[in-house]
Amino acid sequence: MSAPLLHMPDSLKEAARLLAADPEAKCLAGGATLVAMMNAGLVQPSALVSLRKIEGLAGIERRADGSVRIGAMTRHRITANSSELAAGQTVVKQAASVIANPPVRNMGTMGGSIAFADPGADYPPALVAADAEIELLGGGGTRRLKAAEFFTDWYQTALEPGELVAAIHLPAGDARAIGHYDKLARVEGDYATASVAVVLTLAGGICTGIAIAVGACGPKPVRLAEAERKLIGSELDDASLAAAGVLLADAADPVDDVRASADYRRLVIPRLVRRAVRAARALAR
Ligand SMILES: Cc1cc2nc3c(=O)[nH]c(=O)nc-3n(C[C@H](O)[C@H](O)[C@H](O)COP(=O)(O)OP(=O)(O)OC[C@H]3O[C@@H](n4cnc5c(N)ncnc54)[C@H](O)[C@@H]3O)c2cc1C
Repeated sequence: MSAPLLHMPDSLKEAARLLAADPEAKCLAGGATLVAMMNAGLVQPSALVSLRKIEGLAGIERRADGSVRIGAMTRHRITANSSELAAGQTVVKQAASVIANPPVRNMGTMGGSIAFADPGADYPPALVAADAEIELLGGGGTRRLKAAEFFTDWYQTALEPGELVAAIHLPAGDARAIGHYDKLARVEGDYATASVAVVLTLAGGICTGIAIAVGACGPKPVRLAEAERKLIGSELDDASLAAAGVLLADAADPVDDVRASADYRRLVIPRLVRRAVRAARALAR
């Protein structure tokens, strides 16, 4: 087996061109997942297209309208410590802070994480709850997709061959919103057994807006307008929370794996939803 070629393009366009020209090539971001898979012989790319030399691909920029642009090569550690994320956007910052451990947070990037689309990963539910948009660049130019449309199936995304994640955009949202991310894991640093991302707005103790996304309980994050409608206009009482939790558990499509059985995950979703929403409510007061 020969070592893959290493390309170090200095523009995203050139990276996309190199990837489009060779279907066996893979782009290399932090390498946390890709290099481990190569070492284990699970993937054998013909070439690696490194994104490290591309200027402007790392970093977090807060815009005048309150929206935030996160470059695809932004490391989890930078996102976890960023003061640019505010109000409901902080759900993404919290998700970054509980990914694995410090070495992985130093290596891994948001673009690499969402492109790999591990269903147990922490960003997918947080980005769906935050109403994020993913900016993609390929031979055909640039396009933007809602995070909820970007994640399509187990380890599958809407990325076309030769297309790259360029950035992640978080809308400003309501300035009073609170973000909260709750991760249930077997041990600290493990992938989620189940997770819940919440963005909540309260006015006078009444829920005026809520987004809930459940992670690690199916091929992609579960978000359900019907469940959110049970809570909007309520005081987030136990009955409303239970009704929303049951709807989300019914909509989930978990499997048995090394972390938990599908039955356990279905059982735990309503409890985790209740815990996460209550925690967000406590912060909102
Ligand atoms: C021990 C360990 C524990 C972990 N625990 C967790 C955890 O608890 N929670 C969690 O969320 N994650 C966890 N991860 C995953 C981690 O967050 C990785 O950072 C992430 O999956 C991949 O990011 P990366 O930048 O290293 O990507 P890479 O490993 O470089 O690439 C991953 C894949 O994405 C593709 N890719 C990379 N960047 C782009 C791009 N911009 N556009 C298109 N495709 C791209 C690559 O070609 C490759 O197929 C863990 C990883 C390890 C090694």
